[in-house]
Amino acid sequence: MRELDTDRMYLSGVGPKRAELLKRELGINTLSDLIHLYPFRYIDRSGIQTVASVSGTNASIQIKGTVKSRTLYGPQSSIVPTDTEKIHFNAAKRLSVIVKDETGEMEMVFFKGIKWNWERLQPGRVFIFFGRPQEFNGRFNIVHPEVDVPQEGNMGQGVMTGVYPSTEKLRNSGITGKMMCRLQSAALSLCLPEITETLPQYVMNDNGLCPLPYAIKNIHFPTDGYALQKASYRLKFEELFLLQLSLLKQKFIRSRNENGIPMPKVGQDFNDCYNALPYRLTGAQQRVIKEIRSDLVSGRQMNRLLQGDVGSGKTMVAVLSCLIAIGNGYQTCIMAPTEVLAQQHFANISRYLIPTGVRCALLTGSSTAKERREIHSGLEDGSIGIIVGTHALLEDNVKFLRLGLAVIDEQHRFGVDQRARLWSKGPGVPPHVLVMTATPIPRTLAMTVYGDLDVSVIDEMPPGRKPVKTMQINPSRKVAMFRFIKDQIALGRQVFVVYPLIFESEKMDLENLEKGYEEIVERFPLEDGYKVAIVHGEQTPEQKNFNMDAFAAGRAQILVSTTVIEVGVDVPNASVMVIQSAQRFGLSQLHQLRGRVGRGADESYCILVKDYKVSKESQQRLDLMCSTQDGFEIAEEDMKMRGPGDLEGTQQSGMPISLNIASLSKDGLILNQAREYARKVLAGDPTLESKENAALVSELRKEKYNPKDYSKIS
Ligand code: ADP
Ligand code: MG
Repeated sequence: MRELDTDRMYLSGVGPKRAELLKRELGINTLSDLIHLYPFRYIDRSGIQTVASVSGTNASIQIKGTVKSRTLYGPQSSIVPTDTEKIHFNAAKRLSVIVKDETGEMEMVFFKGIKWNWERLQPGRVFIFFGRPQEFNGRFNIVHPEVDVPQEGNMGQGVMTGVYPSTEKLRNSGITGKMMCRLQSAALSLCLPEITETLPQYVMNDNGLCPLPYAIKNIHFPTDGYALQKASYRLKFEELFLLQLSLLKQKFIRSRNENGIPMPKVGQDFNDCYNALPYRLTGAQQRVIKEIRSDLVSGRQMNRLLQGDVGSGKTMVAVLSCLIAIGNGYQTCIMAPTEVLAQQHFANISRYLIPTGVRCALLTGSSTAKERREIHSGLEDGSIGIIVGTHALLEDNVKFLRLGLAVIDEQHRFGVDQRARLWSKGPGVPPHVLVMTATPIPRTLAMTVYGDLDVSVIDEMPPGRKPVKTMQINPSRKVAMFRFIKDQIALGRQVFVVYPLIFESEKMDLENLEKGYEEIVERFPLEDGYKVAIVHGEQTPEQKNFNMDAFAAGRAQILVSTTVIEVGVDVPNASVMVIQSAQRFGLSQLHQLRGRVGRGADESYCILVKDYKVSKESQQRLDLMCSTQDGFEIAEEDMKMRGPGDLEGTQQSGMPISLNIASLSKDGLILNQAREYARKVLAGDPTLESKENAALVSELRKEKYNPKDYSKIS
């Protein structure tokens, strides 16, 4: 067995406990995993500034200095005694560390990790501090700098030291930056000889790529800036190239092999529905329907992703698409991720269908046996034109006479296997597929993730929609907020109150939610006519539905929940969205949540309740939310704000692919080159059968290049 693959990491300094932590925190099981964890930043020892030279507050700086003194501050800047035997860290709100170099002194400030920083930042010790200086009382300080221990490179003679992604748990267990460098160094000396080239020689020549072993060595321990650049280009190019190759190959195979059902007609039902519409379609809706129509007549299978912000009117587009299929003698289905959503779709769609003769039915987990029997026979004899439903549509006994189009709403809740089961229900030819999502996706990401799909965008809102008034407050304004909510309820409106639920401390979050619920019930008591519903992940589906229904039907005025409401419920009467601990949500989540209000004609509000102390990044997110409502702008910014070292950020974003080194927001240029080159390779060898491409085929088998969620629609 090769060193690379041994699943226990035989490295000095890594016992069972640390091995377990590396696995849990960073997903590192093998030495191979370890050496593919790359630094996200480098400390350039030639680039250290002096305290006296700090002037602006924009760029990040690096200071190498000795700790001179430390002070712990409690509430109202009281000083926490530190000369006692036991320091009361719990009482400390802020740690101030004065650092000096030959030219002056500078303060480093910590609001978090106080105890840990106190223990490591001992007076007399030397550290490198990295961060953005800010001016405070006429002097510069750095809040939450990154702290590194100056060290001599233990591999190569480079001036640059890599900084690796890490977590608090890892650091606490002694896997510091320095330790990580040592582990990498040890792992590389074992593994470097085993690393073989993954790309064909011609690919390397065409693109001027350096060999893989050189790239791996230099990404960890660069000899100099030039070597680092070569290494990083090679690794980024490879990653993006293989991903594009995989996606484009699937697209190619499909467009060549998979005939679709030709649907040349529009049909009477389409026209009847269209002519009876209570409003005019927006320009974007019309354009998208044209795009869909040209797919449907083409004779090839449609695989189209429809992106549109919440409220942009995707449902109407779906219905009209279904009517085209019906006009050509086919049946259609619309799948929603939850029962509540399916019911809502069914109610809306049935209304749109009144002017037509089309039969529509709803199939969910709670359909009765009798309803099921009727639906099954209606699908089998072709009399049901549109079936709306949940996962229940996937059950084996659901069969269609002629399934021609499947619409999937909010696809990220559906897995590939589930979709595949839908396709097997048709008469042999795969149905056309329209996937709808309200998650705005930046262009570069769409290109990468949906490389094999055609993308349509509804980038225009129906007229007359008022922007949601968005504000951020801290908990001191709670009383005023409750008063405001009461006023809104008195006007007949409804209110969402959302709490964060983040995997890491699920228990605590749930406690938080329950506490919040109790407080709200206290302030909005039943005897005053208030009803408060609550929904969270620990409930049974029945409990969830019961509470959701109560809110959707207007029986409850307030819905307290975790982010389960993120996907699609439509309660036009809801005018206030309160987001608790808003600093803990990602931008796209905040945007989705806000999209739940502002659907009716009333003025609507989004209140972001933030903690007293929030990090600069969180503050930026909240500011952005208050300054724009444009989902695409928010998505672009979101990508820019996430550093590549931001592990939690990427996990939270729910992105279907995880890039190891390339950044979609920063490496757009390489992405383009990689995509163009992938096209060229496929033009010469569409199925990658030639001998020189064998290496590529084996790389493409890796899970990473087969994004689970999005790409493989059929
Ligand atoms: P989405 O699914 O994209 O979030 P919906 O399809 O639910 O949005 O539409 C949101 C609301 O806008 C619905 O009440 C719908 O009737 C309405 N709507 C859709 N298209 C238009 C339009 N062109 N003009 C006015 N209102 C529209
Ligand atoms: Mg919708």
